[in-house]
Amino acid sequence: MVNIIPKVEKQVKNTIKKYKIASKKDKILVALSGGKDSTLTAYLLKKWGYNIQGFHINLGLGKYSEDCEGVIKNFCKENKIKLYTYDIKKEMGSRMCYIRSGVQAREKVKNCLVCGVIKKSIMNKESRKLKVDKIATGHNLDDEVQTFLINMFKASLKLSANTGPITKNISDKKLVPRIKPLFFVLENDIRKYVKLKKLKIIPQPCPCGIDSYRIQVRIFLNTISEKEKINLIKNFENVQCKIKKDLGKIKYCENCGEPSRNKLCKKCSLLKN
Ligand code: AMP
Ligand code: ZN
Repeated sequence: MVNIIPKVEKQVKNTIKKYKIASKKDKILVALSGGKDSTLTAYLLKKWGYNIQGFHINLGLGKYSEDCEGVIKNFCKENKIKLYTYDIKKEMGSRMCYIRSGVQAREKVKNCLVCGVIKKSIMNKESRKLKVDKIATGHNLDDEVQTFLINMFKASLKLSANTGPITKNISDKKLVPRIKPLFFVLENDIRKYVKLKKLKIIPQPCPCGIDSYRIQVRIFLNTISEKEKINLIKNFENVQCKIKKDLGKIKYCENCGEPSRNKLCKKCSLLKN
């Protein structure tokens, strides 16, 4: 039986080193959802002496959000991590479900897409305010392969252009580089590590995260090996630079001034009235 703790730690250390995603001088903001992936990301970076702070977006999803915030507060206190919380209801005037319903009344888009676009935009803006060098998220190998395959099946491969352990290729003074230390770690190994180390997490997924297409792709991916998942992503690395050339330059959104590839950033085009 493979010993999960050294296996996972070696994979994360190798990713940090090979892709040069973080140095001890960097100020890193870890985006904490309360789930296993982001909790493990913060746990490992802190354990290895990186300069990290935590950042949580309270989405206002009733008891689920309250529980998430509570678990994260305890985790950060126990691990001496300074935590910043962004309350979506206070800052944007509505809870995520209302924001999403408004968008979905006009456009047929998935729950997770609306939430993801808004969270990403908040993370970038707030990290800039906090003057950090990088944002770390908990995305794992399974998340990345799923997204990559979905984009491929839908002929939207351009959406995967910036996939990788670090988004270093789009440099813009308003874009804080995002890093994914768990990029090559299997979701199942993360689950086992977190259980063995008894890290406190919210075990249930987001109550709004229903995406049948992603579930279908996940079922298929459960039939392939770790090596095949890594190969899939690695093959993609070879063609990535070609796709990037077609992406065009980063501009600034006409409405909010945030970085964007179009006149309006994704957040503003979703939230337009
Ligand atoms: P998801 O988009 O839910 O798959 O989450 C991907 C990553 O985004 C997580 O591993 C976290 O690092 C981050 N994240 C998700 N939800 C939140 C949240 N509410 N607050 C802060 N970070 C989050
Ligand atoms: Zn905008």
